[in-house]
Amino acid sequence: MGTARAMPLLVMKFGGTSVATPDRIKRAAKRVAREIANGYDVICIVSAMAGETNKMVGYVNEIAPFYDAREYDAVVSSGENVTAGLMALTLQEMGIPARSWQGWQVPILTTSAHGSARFIDIPNDNINAKFAEGMKVAVVAGFQGVSKEGRITTLGRGGSDTTAVAFAAAFNAERCDIYTDVDGIYTTDPRITAKARKLDKIAFEEMLELASLGAKVLQTRSVELAMRYGVRLRVLSSFEDNNENAGTLVCAEEDIVESKAVSGVAYSRDEAKLTLIKVEDRPGIAAAIFGPLAEAGVNVDMIVQNISEEGHTDMTFSCPVDQVKRAEKAMNEAKTRGDFAFEDLVADTDVAKVSVVGIGMRSHAGVAAQMFKALSAERINIKVITTSEIKISVLIDRKYMELAVQALHDAFALEKA
Ligand code: ADP
Ligand code: ASP
Ligand code: MG
Repeated sequence: MGTARAMPLLVMKFGGTSVATPDRIKRAAKRVAREIANGYDVICIVSAMAGETNKMVGYVNEIAPFYDAREYDAVVSSGENVTAGLMALTLQEMGIPARSWQGWQVPILTTSAHGSARFIDIPNDNINAKFAEGMKVAVVAGFQGVSKEGRITTLGRGGSDTTAVAFAAAFNAERCDIYTDVDGIYTTDPRITAKARKLDKIAFEEMLELASLGAKVLQTRSVELAMRYGVRLRVLSSFEDNNENAGTLVCAEEDIVESKAVSGVAYSRDEAKLTLIKVEDRPGIAAAIFGPLAEAGVNVDMIVQNISEEGHTDMTFSCPVDQVKRAEKAMNEAKTRGDFAFEDLVADTDVAKVSVVGIGMRSHAGVAAQMFKALSAERINIKVITTSEIKISVLIDRKYMELAVQALHDAFALEKA
C-alpha cells in the first residue's frame, strides 16, 4: 500500500450511460485526458455499456432460474471487460498511454460470495509498476474480482461504484469521482419529481441510508468503504462541463450545517410482501423460518409478526420481488421437512418501499407522524412500517410509489435549501 508516487492520482468512474456508445466512451476519455493535462495519473473504472448487464441477467434467468451463482458471475461480469478494452483503445488513439485490466489480472481478490462478493485485497504493485514505466491511465473493469478458488466474482448490482472507492482507498487517490447521468446527488431521484434539489454535500451516514433504501446513484457498499477509509467521494455528470465544485461531495457529518429533519426520500420499486398464515407461535419459530430463507439467498428486509391467537400467528416479511420464487421454494421445503407448519403462504408482488432519511431526525420529534399524515392525505395505505435512528420506511402499493415520493418531498419542503 501507498508507495511513493511521482504524480498525484485520481480515480474516475464512468457508469453505464456514460459509456453506452463509442461516442460516449470518447467523451469520457476526453475528461480523463483533461485530468492527465492537470498533472494526474488516473485509474479509470468502467461499467458495462448501458443495458448490457440487464440483458445478461435476463439470459441467465431464462436458461436457469435457480442458477449456479458462479456461472451467473462468469456471464454478467463480461460487460465490463468490453468497456475496459474499448476505453483503453480510445485513450491510446488519443495518444495517452493506457491499458486495461480485468479484475483477475490485478488481481482483485474477493470473497467467494458470488453475486455479492466483497473485496479482500487489491494489490497495487502490478498497476504501479506500469505507472512507473510511463503509463498514464489504468483502465480497470468495475464490478468484478476473483475468488481464492480462482472463480470470477461480481460485487452486486451497481458494484462498479464500490470498485472505484476501493481503488481510491488502496492507491491513496486524491479523490474518487463518480461520473454518471445526473449532475449530483439529489433530495430524491430527479426522475420522480422535478422539484428534487441537488445537494452540494451529503453526510456519509445519510448517503449510506439513501443507498441502502434504494437510491441507486451509489452502491451502498461504496459509501461504507468511503466512510471507513476517508475517501473524498464526489458524484458528478459526465454529460456537462464541470468545474472544481461541480457535483455532490459525500463527506463527514461535521462538515455539514444541517437543520432539517429530513434530507432525502428514497424508494425501492421492486419489493414483495410475503405472509405465512397460521404458523405456530413458539420459541424458535423465527429462526426456523428465517434460517432457510437466508440459506436460499433471500434478502429479507422488513419483518412483522402478528399477535398470537390460539397458539398461532401470521408472519410477514418483505424481500426483492425477484426472490419470491426462492422464498416460496425454501418455505415449502421447510414445511415438507417438518421444520414447521403453516396454512398458506400469500405473496403480494405489487408493493414498493418508500423511505425518508435525515440525520436531523436524531434531534427532531414527530417526523413519523408528519410522514403518515402526508401519505394519508393522498389516501395511500401503509402495509408495513420500519424505523431506525435516521430513517422511516413504509411498504405501500407500487402504483402509489411516485405519488408517495412526491407527497413526502413536498411535506418536508425538500425543494427549499
Ligand atoms: P450509473 O450507470 O452511472 O452507475 P445509475 O443508474 O446506477 O448510474 O445511477 C444514477 C441514477 O440514480 C440517476 O439516473 C437517478 O435516476 C438515480 N437516483 C436515484 N436516487 C437519486 C438521488 N437521490 N440523486 C440522484 N440520482 C438518483
Ligand atoms: N454493470 C453492473 C450493473 O449494471 C455494475 C455497475 O454498473 O456498477 O450492475
Ligand atoms: Mg450505478
